[in-house]
Amino acid sequence: MKSSTLPRLIVASNNKNKLKEFAAILGSRYQIVSMREAGLDVDIEENGTTFEANALIKAEYVSRVTGCAAIADDSGLEVDALGGAPGVYSARYAGGHGDDEANNDLLLKNLKDVPAPRTGRYVAAIALVRPGCDTIVRRGECGGEILFERRGTGGFGYDPLFLCETGETFAEVSMETKNAISHRRRGIEAVLAALEQEEKR
Ligand code: IMP
Repeated sequence: MKSSTLPRLIVASNNKNKLKEFAAILGSRYQIVSMREAGLDVDIEENGTTFEANALIKAEYVSRVTGCAAIADDSGLEVDALGGAPGVYSARYAGGHGDDEANNDLLLKNLKDVPAPRTGRYVAAIALVRPGCDTIVRRGECGGEILFERRGTGGFGYDPLFLCETGETFAEVSMETKNAISHRRRGIEAVLAALEQEEKR
């Protein structure tokens, strides 16, 4: 068990990368704790219709059952030519949850008649829920284009098809570059800015 004088902030995830991203930005204010470290072993149903609603469902649940501050994210890809799809259904676009290959195949199929540039963005909503304090929900976005074929071997999800602002796909950039410009990074930074504003009041 880690010991710290900082208040605990439970991240509604066990994903090591996400925990690192939260710790990098909020680690000087909070002791970042995973669900597992908090003794929680649950799969929280994300049945909201917006990224914000899903992030709130997760953070509110974790804060309620632990009595601690909790933070959660919900993210996905929005493609303009598809009216914002796959959106909140990004993980299960092709049916099975988290089947990246099938999701990318379906995305290419649905965009086959759409000429370049096929613009879109990764979106991440971040919700911070604290007992006795206002809830903070913020959104981070990272704009880009959907390519006609996969490029690169890194990342996950739609990364091989997502051309970002560096001119590379998210599957070609280093983890450091992705973490520096990602939707999640921008969303967590927006939460930090809201906390700083709150302290000035
Ligand atoms: P989650 O909110 O982290 O569970 O992500 C939901 C889904 O959105 C993932 O399964 C991916 O399909 C997609 N997604 C979210 N963020 C990223 C990203 O940074 N790269 C690739 N796919 C992403």
